[in-house]
Formats: sequence, C-alpha cells, structure tokens
Amino acid sequence: MRLLDLCPASVDECFSSWIYRCMIKFPWVRFSLEGVSVKAESDRCGELVYEDPDFDISSSYVQDVTSRLNLAQDDYFRFFDKKPGKLLSWQSRRFYCRDCVMDDIKNNILPYWRRSWCSAVCVFCPLHEKKLSSIRFNCDPIGRGWRAFSEFSRYPYHQYQGTRNYNLWESESLQKALYDLAIQVFEWYGSSEEARVDSAGADVASTAYFDLVFELLTQAPSLHNSGGLSWSFTFAFKLRLGRYRKDYSWLLENGVNEVDVNQRVCGVILAGKVLGILSDEEVGRLDCMVDDLFPYFGLSNLELGFRCANYSSIGDYDYLLSRIGRLPYSSQARFDGFVAGLTPEM
Ligand SMILES: [Zn+2]
Repeated sequence: MRLLDLCPASVDECFSSWIYRCMIKFPWVRFSLEGVSVKAESDRCGELVYEDPDFDISSSYVQDVTSRLNLAQDDYFRFFDKKPGKLLSWQSRRFYCRDCVMDDIKNNILPYWRRSWCSAVCVFCPLHEKKLSSIRFNCDPIGRGWRAFSEFSRYPYHQYQGTRNYNLWESESLQKALYDLAIQVFEWYGSSEEARVDSAGADVASTAYFDLVFELLTQAPSLHNSGGLSWSFTFAFKLRLGRYRKDYSWLLENGVNEVDVNQRVCGVILAGKVLGILSDEEVGRLDCMVDDLFPYFGLSNLELGFRCANYSSIGDYDYLLSRIGRLPYSSQARFDGFVAGLTPEM
C-alpha cells in the first residue's frame, strides 16, 4: 500500500506539509524519519540560508525522506512539478489563509501548507478572496499549517485592531479594491508567456522583469537608506529602527522575505503597474482610498524609479545595471521609463 493512498496529499500541498501529516498519522513514518531535518548553511554575510524542501527536489531533506520511506518517484515527483517564480525563503513562509485552514479543520484533516502561499506575489487567497494572515511567533516550519491554526485560535486579534489606520486599511471596500488588483498580478505571474500576449497585448513583460522591479520596491532598509517603497507602509507610523547591515545584492534579494503582507501587497500592485499588467488609472484610484497610509499609488513610473534609486555607492548602481543587462531582451516603454528614474544624477 502506498503512503499516498494511506494519507492522500491535498491539492496544492507542499511536500514537507504532506510528510508532516503522515508523521502525525503513522508512528512508523515518524520513527523512520527520526533525525531528518531541513539543513542550513551560512552565506557570505554569516546569515543562515536553508535548503528548500518544498521546491528543490535535490535538497537533502527530500533525498533523505524519499529514501528512508522508500517512496517511488510517482509518489513525490508531482509535488515538484510546476516551475515556480520568486519564492519566499523557507524560513519566511509564514503567510496563510485563515479560511483555508478552517476548511481543513471542518474537513477533518490536519491543516496543510499550500504551495501558492510560498510565492512572493501571493498576498490574497484566490479561493476566499481574503488577505493572507501571518504566523507571529517563530515555530518549527515543518508542520506550520497546524501551528498557524493553534496560534490564531489563541490570538485571534491583530495588534493594530481598532486604530484608525487599521480600520481604514482593512475596510471592506479598500480590501476588495486591493484584492482585484493583486489577484490580476498573481494570475499574470502564474500564466504562460502565450497567455500573457493575449491579455497584455504586444508589449509583454516577462517574469524576470517583474522580479527585479519587485525586488527594488521591497528592498530591505540599510543603515544608509530606508529601503524600497513598500517599507513605507505601516499601521503605526513608527520609525523603523531595524536596519540591515548587508550589501546591496542581499538587500534586494531578501527584502521581500522581511516585509509583512501589507507591504508586500503595495509592492505587488506597484510592480504590476510599472510593467503595465495593471493600468495607471486603476492603480491611481487607490491613491485617495488609502489616504496617507501609502501615498505612492499615483506616482508615474519615472517617479517610482526615482524613489527606488537607493544606492549607497556607485558599486550598487553598477550591480543594478548588471542585473538589468541580464534581463532577456524585450522592448518595453514602461520599464524604460522606470529605469530612467533609477539613473543617478552625476
Ligand atoms: Zn483561503
């Protein structure tokens, strides 16, 4: 009898999530996997970087698990079948949909972790049309579906609940408007290049362009600057004291792992606007709705580029130029306008 038949995986479930549920259900699975864990290595900045047990089939976790449980390729290949775009890092995958988790409980299964929640552009649940929540306390990332459920059953309220800013941002009309835009970007991001030609006309942006714009918008703050525009969104308007002592490439690469879901919403929508996935008009409409919470939805691409030019040295700019140079060739007037704003005045 195959393990998949004994404990079927759910649609869109992550590999590690399925393994966790099998471990809870069958003691023999738990014993077989004793000592197996997701490994980490220090990067050049001394930061721990974890392997990816859900999207990297060659990770030692996947290799250990499949060999110890004697899984056939048919049993685990399907967890890794689709090519993902930019993902949150393994440690940063803490965003989930409460309604999905509640559905699992109602359906009598241990809440499982969805692959779509791991994507950096996933900010709303497409099924429940609801913004993702976040696990607040550090937990063992294996089995975090269950952790999410136990945490929000104990602490159901958001820390800023009841404040003017929170009420404005979380109002039904604003969340609906944000959802409509963010989901268009999410669907565009997950679609094939052919489908994009149909929806966006001849001037098709590619995922690589999106990822770079998104990295610039979510760039982590350093000692020298306040980070990408997304970091300007905050309920509490507190000065952000935590600044990262890292180099420019790290700040670009990891900012998206560090921002919260609301900041990510702003980044997703602005990146969609820069590349023309969303029109200036529909994004501009948000400008008066969000009041002073995030005063950037009405900016032009040139102005957005200008605001993203957070260099602390000419080396940073050279690095950015090399990233732009590596993008696949494509003529995109909108992206060019953004890049013009990124060029420092000499
Ligand atoms: Zn959901």
